[in-house]
Parts: sequence; C-alpha cells; structure tokens
Amino acid sequence: MSNSSEPTILAADQDLVLRFWGVRGSTPVSGPQYAEFGGSTPCIEVRCGQRMFIVDAGSGIYNLGQGHRTDLPQEVDLLFSHLHLDHTAGLPFFKPAVLDSDRVINTYCGNLGGESAGPTLDRLFAPPLFPVTLDKLCCTFHHHGFEAGQTLAFPDGTRVATILLNHPQGSVGYRFEHAGKRLCLISDIEHSDPWPDPDLAAFVADADLMVYDGMFTDGEYPTCRGWGHSTWQKGVELARMAGVKALGIIHLHPAHSDTALRDMEADMQAEMPTAFIARERQCLTVGVPRAVTGRQNGRPAMAREMRRRIKVA
Ligand SMILES: [Zn+2]
Ligand SMILES: [Zn+2]
Repeated sequence: MSNSSEPTILAADQDLVLRFWGVRGSTPVSGPQYAEFGGSTPCIEVRCGQRMFIVDAGSGIYNLGQGHRTDLPQEVDLLFSHLHLDHTAGLPFFKPAVLDSDRVINTYCGNLGGESAGPTLDRLFAPPLFPVTLDKLCCTFHHHGFEAGQTLAFPDGTRVATILLNHPQGSVGYRFEHAGKRLCLISDIEHSDPWPDPDLAAFVADADLMVYDGMFTDGEYPTCRGWGHSTWQKGVELARMAGVKALGIIHLHPAHSDTALRDMEADMQAEMPTAFIARERQCLTVGVPRAVTGRQNGRPAMAREMRRRIKVA
C-alpha cells in the first residue's frame, strides 16, 4: 500500500502525513537498479490533517499531479527549499498547473534574501531553455519571498518555521507541527565543523521525524567536500543530539543503486533503529512507530500500519 500508484491521500484531521514523490538528488535516474528507491528528484507532499503543502518541484512533482487528485486544494502552497534545477525542473509538468485555469499556485522562496522565486523561474522557463514561460500555463502563480529564519504564517492560521541551511546559494529547512507532532525537512545541507550545529539542533529538537540530506556516506564525503551535501552518519549524529525520534534520508546520490542503499540502510539502522532511507511514493504518518521500513523485511508491518492509519482511496 505504501507504493500504491493512486496518489490521493485521505488523512485523518489529527494526522501529520507525508509522501515522498521524489528522493533522488541532483539529477533524475532510471533503470532496474533504481526500482525500489526511485529516480525522481525531490518533491514531498505534507498533510497537516486536510491542509496540504508541497515541498519542492523536482521531477517527482509530475507523479504528484497525475490521476484524479480530488484532494488538491484550489490554492496550492509550494515551498521551495531552494531553486536548483533538481528542485524546480518538474514545475511546468505539474498537471494542475498546466491544465487548471482555476488553480492558484503560491510559491514560497526563502534563500534569496527576501526575493521570490518569480524572477529566477522566469529566467529558467523561457526560450531557448524552455519553449514557453510559466505565465502561458493555465494556472495563476503568486510568488512570495521571505528570509529563512522567519516563521511563515498562512491565512488559515497555519504556521511553518524555517531555517537557513549551509548550501551553495543557501537552502531552507522547514518545521511542520500538527496535533502535537513535529516534522522537519532538512535538505539540501552540508554539515558544518564542528557538528552538530547548535542552532540546527535547536530547530529540529524532539522532532518525531527529521528528513535529512544523505547524498554521501562518510567514506565518500572527503572527495565531495564543498558540494553542499551531507551523509547519513551526520544525520544520525544530529538526530541523537537533538532527541529526534526517527530519521528519513533523502537526496540520494544518483550512483547509489538499490543494493547499495539497502546496505547503507542496514548500517544506519544498526546505529539508529528508527532510521530509514526514503522510497519514492512511500507514504507515512509522522509519530506512528514503525518497526522497519525496508521493503524486504518490513513491508507487511508497514502495510498493516498504513491500513490502520491512512486510507489510500
Ligand atoms: Zn538538490
Ligand atoms: Zn541544491
């Protein structure tokens, strides 16, 4: 059930739910060696009860927009971590943006000193790089800029805390809180030295789930220093220091096959049993204990949990 092709999520009002639509970093990949974890670049759907957010518009947003999404609000709030291509390139292929003239898409961008995503997206999606500009799509875009560190306050009263992350041109981490549950999305980020960073540890403190950038392993990292990404080992260190209850790794390296990622996940779970590597289309309820998330050894338990907690229509 966690890998259902039907996208609609019917969450209970008290549930904080997320679905990973893309977990691959930097560039999409395809092939049999990526069948389990997926090849789409970052896009995460977050549900605070009936309230929906989309974080990032990597190629994973294409699948988010497919099917009959009766649960999509007329106004979609799209929060960007930042505007690198792997987090934006899917936007003009998001069906509700392309086809729905009554759809409003509010984008939020916090890593450009208060400037919205509008001017950058207008440069990116324009001839000759792209055949049309975004204003040719049916939907209406409203682009909002903020400064990372501010708390976003939405018209319905929902608030989302933000923090600036260490990444080329900066990136924004988000913290969602709903019905006593706390979810933090922390990608893209390169860990600092010393680590963990105390401000970031305070930001993610006591999270029920932290989603974290694990593009490299500690063994690979020395040759990739300065590229703006981190390791699952640093994620575990941060989680431990901050009292984070569960850890999900995303921004998976394009060269990391299913076999390599399963091995990595086993190593990580030896350190932190509640940690897992996210799978594309995986859907979970924050704060609900999961024994194991691996497809091979944990799927029956997870499926039972999903049947209990989430109705996937
Ligand atoms: Zn990225
Ligand atoms: Zn980036």
